[in-house]
Amino acid sequence: MDKNAIKTAAEILRDSGHIAVLTGAGISAESGVPTFRGEHGLWKQFRAEELATPEAFARDPKLVWEWYDWRRGIIAKVEPSRGHWTLAKWEEIFPEFTLITQNVDGLHAKAGSKNILELHGNIWKVRCTKEEAVTENYAVPLNEIPPACPVCGAMLRPHVVWFGESLDADLLGRAFGLSASCDVMLVIGTSAFVQPAASLPLRAAENGAKIIEINPAPTPLTSYADISLLGKAGEVLPAIDGLLQKE
Ligand code: NAD
Repeated sequence: MDKNAIKTAAEILRDSGHIAVLTGAGISAESGVPTFRGEHGLWKQFRAEELATPEAFARDPKLVWEWYDWRRGIIAKVEPSRGHWTLAKWEEIFPEFTLITQNVDGLHAKAGSKNILELHGNIWKVRCTKEEAVTENYAVPLNEIPPACPVCGAMLRPHVVWFGESLDADLLGRAFGLSASCDVMLVIGTSAFVQPAASLPLRAAENGAKIIEINPAPTPLTSYADISLLGKAGEVLPAIDGLLQKE
């Protein structure tokens, strides 16, 4: 770990009024939730991009639900990582702290974060394909696949944003607004391939925010980052936190 870069990151955070954070699947990798890209990114012979689409659901809802049932089973068993816990703690100590996540696993909330924008939905919510009503559903495994709406009997779908679908416009507007007004944006555990989330750090940078990236591997955003901390979220975030405590 680059100790000087960690120290500089801690100084930047301490001097910042508004801190925004964008997280991706990497922060949950240390909890044991597979990312979409990388060595554990496959389920049976399918890639996530072949399953998390409206077309796949229209073609074979049972297959798509089986995949979500498998993912829910994994997530139900895991605990937040040290990265999640550190961010939850920072929400308490920094006066203006916003968390924007692409993750659907609910682990930020489980760690205690409250001010969260879940850009891509939540795997523990289901939506009626007829009436669009959204409800929570924690059954693991699901009682039936595909599950049916208890009110009208229509098929339920996961309340997540699939590849090729639009994000909630209000949520996205708020995320871009926060990105434009923050003093620093931490970008943690995202491959920065999925749009429009990957544009949020660019909006922040355009508006003069400092960008701090935490990821074991470089990404398309690395060249825009003021500080690139090549490492795991669960190691780098507690290391920064340790320096914040000392001042
Ligand atoms: P991604 O799978 O495309 O990329 C994961 C990134 O995390 C990679 O850049 C990898 O280098 C990095 N990474 C791996 N281990 C890390 C660690 N310990 N600390 C920090 N970084 C680490 O993920 P993405 O960019 O979030 O985009 C994929 C899409 O898939 C998103 O839309 C997201 O909603 C969805 N997704 C969510 C989950 C989840 O909720 N946990 C899991 C998989 C995918």
